[in-house]
Amino acid sequence: MFIDLHMHEMRYSGDSFLPLEEIVEIAKEKGLDGICITDHDSMGLREFAASYSKKVNFPIFVGIEFFSLQGDIIAFGIDSYPDHRISAQEFIDFVKAQGGVCYSAHPFRNNRRGLEEHLNEVRGLDGIEVLNGSTLKAACQKAAEYARALDLVPVGASDCHVPEKVGVYATYFPEEVHTVEELVAAFTKKNLKPAYYKDGKYHVLDVDKFLKDI
Ligand SMILES: [Zn+2]
Repeated sequence: MFIDLHMHEMRYSGDSFLPLEEIVEIAKEKGLDGICITDHDSMGLREFAASYSKKVNFPIFVGIEFFSLQGDIIAFGIDSYPDHRISAQEFIDFVKAQGGVCYSAHPFRNNRRGLEEHLNEVRGLDGIEVLNGSTLKAACQKAAEYARALDLVPVGASDCHVPEKVGVYATYFPEEVHTVEELVAAFTKKNLKPAYYKDGKYHVLDVDKFLKDI
């Protein structure tokens, strides 16, 4: 399965131009098997997403992109979230205490919202976003190096805010995922892979080649 793990919907992400209905339409067209709405510091879409997911029979998982004091972290499998900024380590511990998973979003993107070198200090992250739809290739390659060095799950996601970006990157899940619980469990098995959309379909990224290709 190919799932886009990091997407912004306009009702709760003020910087997004995308209604959920349009995201699902494009996702289906491209051949995604599921999507994740990860709004900025909000999981407000949960109820609507759950009912819309049923209505259109398409998996929609709601996580969060939390802006910790050291940078953005994507989390899944949590029921609540802090109402103010806390440190990356505190947020990771918070997610783990609820049995969730979390990963570093665009760690080296040039918007000063990635964890950057804090990746070396924090403990408990599950993954690193290697492919991000708004991040330059060199920064994605650096993320891939860190994922490898730190033995964290490398994932891909569009981080879309506009229609053209929906599903440009995704994550390959070797097993079927139909619930957030299964999504969380899949992370802990460490067999996910970043993927990209090209020529009408998804391809798993060859990380070795990607690292050598300067
Ligand atoms: Zn984002």
